[in-house]
Amino acid sequence: MAFTFEQARACVLREVPVAVPTNAVIEPVALADADGRVLAEEIRADRDYPPFARSARDGFAVRAGEIPGTLRVVGEVRAGEASGVSVGAGEAVEIMTGAPVPAGADTVVMVEHVIREDGGIKTERTLKPGENISQQGEEARAGTALLHPGKLLGFSEISLLATLGHTQVQVFRRPKVAILTTGDELVEAHETPGPVQIRNSNAAALAVQVRRAGGLPEILPIARDSYKSTSALIARGLEADVLLLSGGVSAGKYDIVEKTLADAGAEFFFDRALIQPGQPVVFGCVKRDGCTKFFFGLPGNPVSTMVTFEVFARAAIERMLGIEDPPLRMLRARLTREFRHKPGLTRFLPANLSTDGATVEAAPSRGSGDVAALARANAFLVVDSEKESWAVGEDIRVLLK
Ligand code: AMP
Ligand code: MG
Repeated sequence: MAFTFEQARACVLREVPVAVPTNAVIEPVALADADGRVLAEEIRADRDYPPFARSARDGFAVRAGEIPGTLRVVGEVRAGEASGVSVGAGEAVEIMTGAPVPAGADTVVMVEHVIREDGGIKTERTLKPGENISQQGEEARAGTALLHPGKLLGFSEISLLATLGHTQVQVFRRPKVAILTTGDELVEAHETPGPVQIRNSNAAALAVQVRRAGGLPEILPIARDSYKSTSALIARGLEADVLLLSGGVSAGKYDIVEKTLADAGAEFFFDRALIQPGQPVVFGCVKRDGCTKFFFGLPGNPVSTMVTFEVFARAAIERMLGIEDPPLRMLRARLTREFRHKPGLTRFLPANLSTDGATVEAAPSRGSGDVAALARANAFLVVDSEKESWAVGEDIRVLLK
């Protein structure tokens, strides 16, 4: 089952159900700890917003029909002050931003647009009724649902929650994500590798990626390229909510991950995607005791592992967190150097995006093992599988790192 990039991503979105809030999958979290969590309850306005008609400017509350003209200032109203003063014919009340608009007034003329005269003001301005006033309930009526389950919480959502008086909210629990790296050549990062060994970098990368996606990473010991070692650790990994494997999914003699998963009762949705790097990527599930455990077999080359996590596995974790349509963090930028490739595969290549996000160019790289090149780059060029060449100045897709 070889899928195009789009088909493979659509497959992940189709197969992984979106979490719905039930007691088993939600937990309360203090507002201060809610950043990056996913909301699991509906949040409604506790009163009208704004709660009262308020001035959007520092100035004078007046009657629109009486300006331009000269008006007598009969009082003042400050933010936070419930003033009993009202505006009658020929009158104005000095008002501060955020203060309730006094009865009788229907607009606010800005302080910059008046000339103070003895006991009054003069203005040349014309204003429509309602100008410079935020009307009661114009942002939200009491009872209106303002945030829904599945909303990723960031500073603006947390600002809204604070506005509405929430100090704690219900969020989805973080799914446990087991990380199982495979390879006879691997030693842990703290160990000294022998002459033909390498350090395990994929566990470190995936743990960060899982955490960023909202999951709780659990790094398992390295599986060796033997059936016994791999199957024992896969069994452990399937106790988590999601299992991520790295390595052992290519065509080599000791690439035994797929066989081991098949023997564990796996169903495979795809075992190849027309992408580069990361072509041998595997996605499937194991059903046990009425419970579906999803797994991804990510190719072991570090850039392949990181890319395939970002474009496929991340979406699965986000769906499990109640995010219905997980976004790819993509934008478009203008190429500053021409680019060509052999069509057929969607490529994700280390790239440098300008600081203003307007232009991009492919970064030099020695391929999917070149972690140093990816670390120097700040994005990926997303190269369309159907197009052959791009001229300087043409738009191209960019995936943020
Ligand atoms: P594989 O997908 O197992 O064929 O591995 C492809 C390449 O990635 C080989 O050069 C491996 O040595 C390397 N590799 C596999 N797993 C890791 C890992 N956990 N950390 C760093 N490199 C790895
Ligand atoms: Mg291997």
